[in-house]
Amino acid sequence: MVRQSSPQVVRTRIAPSPTGEDIHIGNLYTALINFAVARKNKGQFIIRIEDTDRTRFVPGAEEKILQSIKAFGLDYDEGPDKEGPYTPYRQSERLEMYKKSASELVAKGHAYYCFCSKERLDMVRAEQQSKKQLPRYDKYCLHEVKNTEERIQRGEKYVIRLNVFPDQQVKFVDVIRGEIVFDSNQIDDQVLLKSDGYPTYHLGVVVDDHAMNITHIIRAEEWITSTPKHVLLYQAFGWEMPIFAHVPILRNPDRSKLSKRKNPVWASWYLEQGFLPEAILNFLALMGWSHPEEKEIFSLDEFISLFDLKDVKPAGPIFDIQKLEWMNGVYIRNHQISNLKSQIIQQDPRLEKLDDDLFDQLLPLAQTRMKKLNEFYELTKYIFEKPQRELSEKEKEITEKLKNKLLTIEQWSNETILITLKQVMEEEGVKMSVLYKVLTGSEHGLPLSDVLAILGKERVLTLLS
Ligand code: GLU
Repeated sequence: MVRQSSPQVVRTRIAPSPTGEDIHIGNLYTALINFAVARKNKGQFIIRIEDTDRTRFVPGAEEKILQSIKAFGLDYDEGPDKEGPYTPYRQSERLEMYKKSASELVAKGHAYYCFCSKERLDMVRAEQQSKKQLPRYDKYCLHEVKNTEERIQRGEKYVIRLNVFPDQQVKFVDVIRGEIVFDSNQIDDQVLLKSDGYPTYHLGVVVDDHAMNITHIIRAEEWITSTPKHVLLYQAFGWEMPIFAHVPILRNPDRSKLSKRKNPVWASWYLEQGFLPEAILNFLALMGWSHPEEKEIFSLDEFISLFDLKDVKPAGPIFDIQKLEWMNGVYIRNHQISNLKSQIIQQDPRLEKLDDDLFDQLLPLAQTRMKKLNEFYELTKYIFEKPQRELSEKEKEITEKLKNKLLTIEQWSNETILITLKQVMEEEGVKMSVLYKVLTGSEHGLPLSDVLAILGKERVLTLLS
């Protein structure tokens, strides 16, 4: 059965595994798409935690993932910390359902108990490899084991495997990629229920997506090869098939898969670096999709109203951090100054040391230049933290000269300061970068005469002492 024009409410979900530090930026992209499809169709967006792989479980990861999703404003309707009609939303708390479902499949002949030891499985695999055959389970327990009940009673360890029938075409339609066909001879008799009583991803995902009435399975393309197993499971259970869409995997500029080794991958890293959540979502929205008017900057609401899954291009989009920086700069410039101020302080509490009045005067200067929030601290820290400068003899002389000249200014203003700075540069034959250095410890920064005018004579002289 294929879901066609179902009158049902659209329900999408992400199913993150708590196996890393936080949500991967690629999964945040998948979350955005699921969120947009749900909101566009006035449906629901659900978060389910897939924590059945106990060997990879990282304590605290679930909290971090949920925190990040909230920080990006992708509000979910149901989740582990948001009760809904299908609670619990954490797979480790749903084990009974998987056991029941696996037994149902055994009863129907679509699954079977397997008692094979690791040694036997390794041996079978080695033999297949030596014959250059596809490594897969050889159905020994399906055909040869007759005393299943008795062995289970005896407490022998077992797994439950999917019984894949040979010589079938396993098909599904992907909204982004069209029809995809697999040969069932290429599909292994996948373990569904492990000996520790936990389901594998394949059983858990299908049972839960069905139980939670998920209408659209939108996930990354790396799951395409898993989907035929899921299709077989839907068919074996006799359940209605959801709509599938596999969004492209984000790539580094060299086209390799976005991974920890080449690029920061955790969503919270981007926030810590001072990227704005709305800029990141705008940037991610453009991965594999373009605005009908070719606009690059648009709001989340605009994206939701225009987005259609079928317009996503399957070729791997490039995650170009320089473009993200540019886009973030645009967002910073378009931001209301009061919002910007609170976000900057929230992001870097060290800035609480900066005098409030100075903050308000310096921010408009910085706003036009910053690409990331954390640059504000870098641009202003010399004002409230004694700058570390290693000055040469010549630079020390310049410092003295600058101090004396500034001291004599009667009308302290941008113009008079600029004249003085230029005089020193000319007389000493140095560039503005040297003046920056002696004043701030860095060779560039906000427009110097503007900043000095704002700081006032007394503060500036202290900087030079
Ligand atoms: N746990 C999988 C992940 O981490 C979920 C894949 C799916 O959406 O089916 O992405």
